[in-house]
Amino acid sequence: MKAKVYADFNATAPLRPESAAAIAEALAEVGNPSSVHAFGRVARARVERARAAVARLAGSAPRDVVFTSGGTEAAALALKGAGRRRLLVSAIEHDAVLAAARDGGRIPVRADGRVDLEALDGMLAEGGEPALVSVMWANNETGVVQPIREVVTIARRHGALVHSDAVQAAGKLALDFAASGLDYLSLSAHKIGGPTGIGALLVREGAPLIPQQAGGGQEQGRRSGTENLIGIAGFGAAASAAADSVEDWRRVEALRDRFEDEALAAGPGVRIFGREAPRLPNTSCISIAGMPGETQVIALDLAGIAVSAGSACSSGRVKRSHVLDAMVPGAPEAGNAIRVSLGWTNGEDDLAILVRAWRDLYNRASANMKATA
Ligand code: PLP
Repeated sequence: MKAKVYADFNATAPLRPESAAAIAEALAEVGNPSSVHAFGRVARARVERARAAVARLAGSAPRDVVFTSGGTEAAALALKGAGRRRLLVSAIEHDAVLAAARDGGRIPVRADGRVDLEALDGMLAEGGEPALVSVMWANNETGVVQPIREVVTIARRHGALVHSDAVQAAGKLALDFAASGLDYLSLSAHKIGGPTGIGALLVREGAPLIPQQAGGGQEQGRRSGTENLIGIAGFGAAASAAADSVEDWRRVEALRDRFEDEALAAGPGVRIFGREAPRLPNTSCISIAGMPGETQVIALDLAGIAVSAGSACSSGRVKRSHVLDAMVPGAPEAGNAIRVSLGWTNGEDDLAILVRAWRDLYNRASANMKATA
């Protein structure tokens, strides 16, 4: 039987058993968390336990947590709900943020994938009304971790509010929302081993938030609608499991590093984006000269290995990566990159299969290059 290796954790992670168990438990019960009777109180307790677990994962107070339908809604709620008309977002943000700041300024990044702090300072100094700045904690394509503390310091000097999309960082890095100085932070359950369709926006106490969805006043009036009890239960359990296993990423990081060492040793024409910067422990954005990323993804899929090309392709389309273009404008390698993103289910066997299949690809690309030279 053909090997199956899942190496696309940044797209979505497998449901953790703890999360599946919590979902099953919630499914077996009835009760609206807003009802005053005993059934409702049990449901409310379940929501609040999950809120505390999510808060622990992100280093925030439970009252900061507003449950949403996922990372996309969380980012939109922050960017629209902060009430600032002037938006400055990094050029490498996920589409969730870019789309919510369509007319906003784009903060450039340097070749290593880290946001250009001087440029941010300059853009904020241009004056105008107070801004909202959005810089992701870690990038979904390259794994590059952003200097959030410095971003906050600069933004504060100019009276700006700051949001960070921590959808990819959560669970893989220790987060401390309270100490970060951030006003808003976005999370998504399905990247940490919870179900899809549930996430959260953390809102610092005192930070403005104009609700984007009015109704029954749930989530302290910040996001109306009967709570997604099943999703929230699964999110809470995944958050607890993730918080208790941050150390496991060291093992994953060692696998990722060995994959990259093997790849770089194959020969010329290999490039790893963002390798000079601090990165998530699981992500490798790697290109092979002369071979489109899409071709690599298909070939690896035929070998039983799941990875992504360029930016995570919603609706199955693969477009040129705006992230790599922002890092190295016009670089031909940008179209030849794939994203390998490992996780807790991967082990030595997977690494061996991945290295072998990737080497086959590399040899094919080298042979093609020689034939057309
Ligand atoms: N932000 C980042 C960095 C992501 O990687 C994703 C998902 O790919 C999102 C936001 C969107 O999250 P969700 O799928 O929960 O809407």
